[in-house]
Amino acid sequence: MHPLASEVTCRGGIARAHTIQRGGGLSRISKEGHVGKLQVKRYSGAIRGDSVERTLVGLRSASTFTGFCGLHDTQTFAPLETRPFSCSQQQVFLLAYRALCRELYYLRVHAELAPVYREGDRGSPLDEQVMLQLYMTRKESETERLTGRLGTLRSKCDNMLLGRDFSEVRFYAVMLAECPDIMCNGIHEPIVDFEGNYLSSIGRQGAPTRWMHLSLIATDEGGAAVFSWWAGDTTEEIINTLDALSDDELPHAIVRYAFEFFGNVYFSPLWWDGLTPSTQERLAARSVSGMPPFYESARAHNCLVDDGMRAVRWEVSGRQWIRD
Ligand SMILES: [Zn+2]
Repeated sequence: MHPLASEVTCRGGIARAHTIQRGGGLSRISKEGHVGKLQVKRYSGAIRGDSVERTLVGLRSASTFTGFCGLHDTQTFAPLETRPFSCSQQQVFLLAYRALCRELYYLRVHAELAPVYREGDRGSPLDEQVMLQLYMTRKESETERLTGRLGTLRSKCDNMLLGRDFSEVRFYAVMLAECPDIMCNGIHEPIVDFEGNYLSSIGRQGAPTRWMHLSLIATDEGGAAVFSWWAGDTTEEIINTLDALSDDELPHAIVRYAFEFFGNVYFSPLWWDGLTPSTQERLAARSVSGMPPFYESARAHNCLVDDGMRAVRWEVSGRQWIRD
């Protein structure tokens, strides 16, 4: 997976690379060696918040992928793992690169396993079989489409990595006074902003693909929510609507974004168990809102607009930008 991977250069077997830092991050929100994650428990009828359950995942398997060998994993991410987080363009790049590699890795695994999944519903009730087959058909075409688009992005990022030139990285970081209860590392094609507007180029033929990366991490001072994109990319529109929020509103907007758009989200089991059932249900509903063709109601244009939910008590200690 690493751009310089080969039989000659690779060492140390395939690493279980942690897409969310393990030492500094996940262990700080774990309980007895486990972190929480939401998972769909059944594919029957429309998938709603109550089709999702909180599961516990061991720290060793949380958020891992096996795309890089030990040597390349250690070398590539050393500036992130061995130095305090200082919001350098290189560190922000590495957070996004890790999200990208993870996404591509799982797309590949998914494509390879698709025939197995399709066979997996033998003996289930007919309606569940129909739903699963429908789901697989959508998922397979989405996998193919995304693999192509993310592959193009991957080539660009490999060049940045090998050339050690991170000057095109743009980011918006919200610094938090404490370690966040939720950690996340993902990359996606954004569609809406925090005021409920579709981004201006959405649906326009030939419009360039835009990417937004989000990492929620622990730092020495507390934590950070880091959004990043590339120079010249109008993804910045979204960030303008995020930055318009007050320090009191900002943490809740970040939580909405993480649960709405990313699957690679882990959280403190103690935090989750302390939420009211209605808050749990609303977060769970967000986690499946984009899952075609099941979702009970399609993802709304205003899905990032404040819905009044206050699931966290994070204190914002600063904001940092690098923009065009
Ligand atoms: Zn290697």
